[in-house]
Amino acid sequence: MTYTSISTVYSYVCSMLSPSVFFKDRIPGSKNIMRVAGRYLRRHLGHSTHSWRKVMRFAVLVLVLANPVLFHPSLALGQANPNDWDLLIRSGTVIDGSGGPAFQADVAIQGDRIVAVSEASLDPDRASHVIDATGMVVSPGFVDLHAHLDPLLRLPSSESHVRQGVTTALGGPDGGGPWPFEAHLEAVEKVSVGMNVGFLVGHNTVRRTVMGLENRAPTPPELDRMKGMVAKAMEEGAWGISTGLKYLPGAFSELEEVIALAEVAGREGGFYTSHLREEGLGLLDGVGEALEIGKRAQLPIVLTHHKVVGQPMWGASTRTLAMVDSAREAGTDAMIDQYPYTASYTGIGILIPAWAMAGGDAALLARMNDRTLADSILDGIAFNIINDRGGNDLRRVQFALVGWDRTLEGKTLHDWALREGLPSTPETGARLVIEAVRRGGASAIFHAMSEEDVERIMAHPFTMIASDGRLTQPGEGHPHPRWYGTFPRVLGHYARDKKIISMVEAVRKMTALPAERLGLNMRGQIQKGWFADIVVFNPVIVEDQATFEQPHQYPIGIDWVIINGQITVEESSFRDVRAGRVLRRHLN
Ligand SMILES: [Zn+2]
Repeated sequence: MTYTSISTVYSYVCSMLSPSVFFKDRIPGSKNIMRVAGRYLRRHLGHSTHSWRKVMRFAVLVLVLANPVLFHPSLALGQANPNDWDLLIRSGTVIDGSGGPAFQADVAIQGDRIVAVSEASLDPDRASHVIDATGMVVSPGFVDLHAHLDPLLRLPSSESHVRQGVTTALGGPDGGGPWPFEAHLEAVEKVSVGMNVGFLVGHNTVRRTVMGLENRAPTPPELDRMKGMVAKAMEEGAWGISTGLKYLPGAFSELEEVIALAEVAGREGGFYTSHLREEGLGLLDGVGEALEIGKRAQLPIVLTHHKVVGQPMWGASTRTLAMVDSAREAGTDAMIDQYPYTASYTGIGILIPAWAMAGGDAALLARMNDRTLADSILDGIAFNIINDRGGNDLRRVQFALVGWDRTLEGKTLHDWALREGLPSTPETGARLVIEAVRRGGASAIFHAMSEEDVERIMAHPFTMIASDGRLTQPGEGHPHPRWYGTFPRVLGHYARDKKIISMVEAVRKMTALPAERLGLNMRGQIQKGWFADIVVFNPVIVEDQATFEQPHQYPIGIDWVIINGQITVEESSFRDVRAGRVLRRHLN
């Protein structure tokens, strides 16, 4: 029995016993007594396990107590009850996530739910806590479809994500989901987390468990074992399957294997998300493969962190988006997610051909002692500088962490070449990359995407915003700024300043759209009865602060973050309340 029906029973009893109470709506204060009574009933009798007799006895008791009060006008019964709502967000501009126009409204929260969204202003005296959101946007909490949550047990508060406005994040991308699946979910539940989290089952994880790093197709029993693992994770609450076909051992798998596993996830209602086999010269084939998997395995797909790497391919997003559109028209439920930067970030060794890296750095350096091999390796690196992550300009490869020469951090391959008195050419770049490996390696930022592609992909109606960020904290390494700034950067830089998308559209891409892709229950929109996952941000100042040089910066303008009704960011200060939940697909 619900609170409403208990109230109805109480009203009915009142009307039977006391005619004056029948006109309760005209008697100041009687509504509040109803409310208090209802709350008492709910608290002490529970939602469904109480007996009717208890309800009746209690109703009569309340009535007896309330009657003299009701007839005593000197008692100030007209005063509102501050316990009606735990929280009231007043006078904000609500962007509800659905893509509909913004509107002025008050939003009331009780427990973990939104209980009122009212364009007429609500009485602040009825709330225990009031947030004045004048001039602010009240938005659903952001849903991050691509999050690297591997540090979650060490950083359970998830501050670097929550401070961006993220209230739900999906871990296990790029083929790297946790295993054993259920044990991981339980461990996460045990530490209590700062935001809601869900997980994907990872193809690379499953393949490595069954076949190690072997470069071959699975035998039928091996494929059956992998299918069994995917099915088990789906039963345990996975939201779908991720692949990382650029990484090992996913790179060794062929289409049929991936389709067979995706089918299992699809049957259980999951979706498929893929780090494509190639994002540079082979991009169109990579997109085509993902679309074919969606079509043949009959499940929804996401092209994750969709981008166009390398100058020769710049502009190819017109073709990849057209491929997505035509697949959608033909019935494949394809979507995209994206981080809002023109640079990727990884070890500088990514410029070296894979064959030359077999066996690791020592083997690479040994090969460099062979004149013929050395020429092939240098040619291969120069090729990648021209055609892939090098962006065909040494100024586009920027050092991030350089343990053996901190003065190079923030500088580019071009700067290094000039310092050594060398011409700034791909051939010089190739020699310097080998030199960097010889000295101990370095991480680098590859400015190898074009702004036009980033903007074109962002503007597509089925592109969602996702960080591809790993949980971090200040002082820990030299991360990509997306780990701190993804969502505020889209709101501030791309929506407000560059007007690539509207603010309403930006919010939709961060909330309702990814929530729908996941199949989240009652999250991702500001709606009465839905979970109170809410961000209150200042649309005038919201902005990322993290840069490639100074990445450890929290954003500004994300003033309030509420997760399951709990204030987790309060006036831009983080509160370690751990209001997050582990979300399982079939139970959410
Ligand atoms: Zn990836």
